Amino acid sequence: MKSSNLGYPRIGEKREWKKALEQFWTGKLEKEPFLKQMEEIRLKHLQKQKDQGIDLIPVGDFSLYDHVLDTAVMFGLVPKRFNYRGGKVSLETYFEIARGTKDAVAAEMTKWFNTNYHYIVPELDQTVPTLVENRPLQFYKEAKQKLGIKGKPVIIGPVTFVKLSKGYTNLKTAIHQFIPLYAEILRELQAEGVDWVQVDEPILTTSLSREEVELFADVYQQLHDAAPNVNILLQTYFDSIDYYEKIISLPVQGIGLDFIHDRGENLASLKKFGFPEDKVLAAGSLDGRNIWRANLDEKLSLLSEIAEIVPKDRLIVQPSSSLLHVPVTVKSEDTLEEVLKNSLSFADEKLREVVVLTKGLRLGKDSIQEEIVSSTKAIKALNESTFRNNQQVQNDIQNLASVRAEREVPFNIRQAIQETTFQLPLLPTTTIGSFPQTQEVRKQRKLWRKGELTDAEYEKYINVEIKKWIEIQEKLGLDIFVHGEFERTDMVEYFGEKLAGFQFTKYGWVQSYGSRCVKPPLIYGDVSFQDPMTVKETVYAQSLTEKPVKGMLTGPITILNWSFVRDDIPRFEVANQIALALRKEVELLEENGISMIQVDEPALREGLPLKRENWDSYLNAAVYAFKLSTTSVRNETQIHTHMCYANFEDIIDAINALDADVISIETSRSHGELLSAFEENTYDKGIGLGVYDIHSPRVPALEEITKNIERALQVLEPKLFWINPDCGLKTRGLEETVAALEVMVEAAEQVREKL
Ligand code: GLN
Ligand code: ZN
Repeated sequence: MKSSNLGYPRIGEKREWKKALEQFWTGKLEKEPFLKQMEEIRLKHLQKQKDQGIDLIPVGDFSLYDHVLDTAVMFGLVPKRFNYRGGKVSLETYFEIARGTKDAVAAEMTKWFNTNYHYIVPELDQTVPTLVENRPLQFYKEAKQKLGIKGKPVIIGPVTFVKLSKGYTNLKTAIHQFIPLYAEILRELQAEGVDWVQVDEPILTTSLSREEVELFADVYQQLHDAAPNVNILLQTYFDSIDYYEKIISLPVQGIGLDFIHDRGENLASLKKFGFPEDKVLAAGSLDGRNIWRANLDEKLSLLSEIAEIVPKDRLIVQPSSSLLHVPVTVKSEDTLEEVLKNSLSFADEKLREVVVLTKGLRLGKDSIQEEIVSSTKAIKALNESTFRNNQQVQNDIQNLASVRAEREVPFNIRQAIQETTFQLPLLPTTTIGSFPQTQEVRKQRKLWRKGELTDAEYEKYINVEIKKWIEIQEKLGLDIFVHGEFERTDMVEYFGEKLAGFQFTKYGWVQSYGSRCVKPPLIYGDVSFQDPMTVKETVYAQSLTEKPVKGMLTGPITILNWSFVRDDIPRFEVANQIALALRKEVELLEENGISMIQVDEPALREGLPLKRENWDSYLNAAVYAFKLSTTSVRNETQIHTHMCYANFEDIIDAINALDADVISIETSRSHGELLSAFEENTYDKGIGLGVYDIHSPRVPALEEITKNIERALQVLEPKLFWINPDCGLKTRGLEETVAALEVMVEAAEQVREKL
């Protein structure tokens, strides 16, 4: 029996990795010292895992940007626009693919399964793949020579790699191009004396067709034949595998399964179909995606249950996935509530849990009695704390059935009422919420956080900004105003800091894409409303103008999906707690004269389960939570929502079911595609398709915008159409923002005249 890990966070305890990268990019760090620093970080992480007592230590999971990009460049897959001439891809080209140059757009980036990690999408139609370097071998040798660690090389499997790429026409043909390259990698690893290779095929936890699954048999037979003495551990994670019987009979020596995010299905399959005697089972038995300390008693029971089917000598104990998705260590957190801190487990603590559990399984429960007691005690203390026992919240949740989660009348009736209330022109113009957060805004907030600015001084500063932007909006001639969100750093953090039930770590960062890290809030207790969160700023803004000012809130699903969520109660119970708190805020805004309220749900889509068959239950729960927060308002009050993605058609029914009066969505980069979705589906409420791309500082040309509007009006009713940029403007500069909005308003006027 062995302990193992699937991947370790790259960023470092204090984000050393991020800092080095950014210094290199800005030229503050030369290439040599940069690479040296990266090597030190990489080796330190390996050493840490060794010191913890992990038997199978992953090598090659470390990256200078993204492991999918690493795999692509290993195969010489460089898009033509980067002028690649073959051979090992240079560091410069590597970063150019990820970040773009002034002449060549960066490769697309997209979410890694259902995580908040983004990978660089390989482009298969650009070059013929060849093996230009053997990265797993390189990292294996490095660990062996420098640290005496005989690591477990990690590599993305061929099926997953191709499925995550774009630009291929036939899946099977595309995969077959890669088989000889993978075979070569494995042969070289075999020659080096490598024992286990972890081949990641997380694609197996998504909904695959039978034909797609059939591909695995041939692929893995060929890989096995190429290097029969290397043990392949076919690793899956993030959900259960369908086609269990097929997968466990593949010609590999080990199978890795996730027993945490499988809704019990992997365990059920294991019990029903058994497990082959010639294979090892790597049991993902600790949550690699969340930050809670494991109840070691329960974990040991789970492992013992598994051990009834797979004998202990063929079991590997490991986290459910790479630890890339959790922060590094709880150790440095010195400001958290003690009862919370004791119940946390980040990457380093999880490795310790893996080692303890391995010992427990090997030597029996008594051998880890002390650790079991300490884990159950810590968890019990948190569960019994006041944070998790807010009677009022729990009663409210009990009584949800008696809370109206529907508007009083259907949309078409509200629409008529709201037409009279607002008297808006056709094609009303507005923005998504935030205006540029200048250096100065950030500086003032920092000063205030440090206590160098009083609350009153800070508030005054924010009000000056609000006033400035109300005047700008007035001058621009926009129809619906916003206050600008100057008081917010982050749309989830801002609400998390004001609601009960949240805490914030100091160093709890996780990589989101490239050097960008996020620090998700911890939802650790019952969530409840405490004080008004947005009323002051919104009401102040409204007092300065006759135009309606939209109140601006972050929706319950986005808050949920961008946080680490307690796992002692169902996830959607937490969503409903948040929704009830937001419902109060919505009511308060309304009472204070705010007649349009936008509840942003940019993260609704990313919470979708990996398997299609589970989409409905997620979407139903999400729609319910959204409606719980938004439906108590009067018919006259207009509810808006905003989402940041264009692929919309497969969830259009759910989005319609949100019953928001107006939705604004990001589209400017894929206008055509989105419109065809509207041709085929019926979305019958107000809609603002972003008419220009805010992700670039470029000021759009008038004709570009008018063209976008006119195209949209071919499929959408003018009466329902709104005009807005495609997302918030907080990352833009003042001048470019004003210039772009001027063009937008002008375009709206031009099109209106022709209607
Ligand atoms: N209201 C938010 C803003 O404008 C929305 C941000 C987002 O969609 N991610 O910044
Ligand atoms: Zn957005």
